[in-house]
Amino acid sequence: MINKIKEYGNIEEHAPLKNLNTYHIGGTTKYLISPNSINDLIQILKILKENNIKYFILGNGSNIILNDREFDGAIIRLNKLNGIEIHPSLHMAYAEAGAMLPKLVQEAVNNSLMGLEFASGIPGTVGGSIYGNAGAYNSCILDYVTSVTVLDEDLNVKVIEHEQINYSYRTSMFKEEKKYIILAAKFYLKEGDKENSLNIIEDRRQRRVASQPLEYPSAGSVFRNPEGDFAGRLIESCNLKGYRIGGAEVSEKHANFIVNIDNATSKDVYELINYVHDTVLEKTNVDLHIEQEFIDWE
Ligand SMILES: Cc1cc2nc3c(=O)[nH]c(=O)nc-3n(C[C@H](O)[C@H](O)[C@H](O)COP(=O)(O)OP(=O)(O)OC[C@H]3O[C@@H](n4cnc5c(N)ncnc54)[C@H](O)[C@@H]3O)c2cc1C
Repeated sequence: MINKIKEYGNIEEHAPLKNLNTYHIGGTTKYLISPNSINDLIQILKILKENNIKYFILGNGSNIILNDREFDGAIIRLNKLNGIEIHPSLHMAYAEAGAMLPKLVQEAVNNSLMGLEFASGIPGTVGGSIYGNAGAYNSCILDYVTSVTVLDEDLNVKVIEHEQINYSYRTSMFKEEKKYIILAAKFYLKEGDKENSLNIIEDRRQRRVASQPLEYPSAGSVFRNPEGDFAGRLIESCNLKGYRIGGAEVSEKHANFIVNIDNATSKDVYELINYVHDTVLEKTNVDLHIEQEFIDWE
């Protein structure tokens, strides 16, 4: 099976995952696979299905909490499916799922197309960002997407148009239904002024540097903001800033970030998230919902 997969991409056995997620935690995976192209991804999935091997699609690992033990299956990285095309006259951008979102923003701005500046500091792939409907400053990515090309459970390629995509704050049908692998997306952008867009990006960068603990590994906001309030404010009101389990800590700078300050394990992060959730519930009666995703914790 391994030799067959090698015809379509890279495969590594018992590969460590620590450097493939922004918390820098997690164990290993039985197989780590990087397909060379969309067609190769389909061939690899056929082989995995024939061999009853479960798989998980990994983006940049910036919104997930992996387990410390070995993932008993294949983790598929789409890092080689990273093509970006910008068509200024059509106000259109096209990106494959493994392209990094900040790179797409930069290329759009270089071509004087605006709209995605809000996403310049979101360290995810296009696929992972569409899945979770990444957003910031009251904008979200799916507002700009005109269509998403996906692979369905029977490995058929489908195009889902904007009107058919259900999404809301930090979620989408892709996250709720877990039926599709996102392959690529098209975006509709507006004609803009490059200098103006670069100023917006710099302003947002300064805001992030001032408010987020970017000096430590994390996976961004842990909890969704509840209607009309902020998860960070609630957590801070419970005096949890600086609270620590093992090497994981509620950030002193932003209470809705958990940071890996000293070789944290996934278990440390898992227990700290539960502790914060339960404390906030007990003290404020607000049931916070997690934005990050636990992978392979059942
Ligand atoms: C410092 C920092 C700041 C952040 N700021 C923000 C912010 O402002 N706004 C925000 O929304 N998020 C933010 N995040 C969180 C994160 O960057 C985003 O959620 C990002 O969009 C996740 O993309 P990813 O590629 O890393 O996904 P991953 O974490 O790799 O995966 C997330 C989920 O998406 C699924 N997935 C990934 N690719 C595909 C695909 N091709 N097809 C189907 N499913 C797929 C995975 O299976 C997984 O379930 C921040 C994170 C950090 C570390």
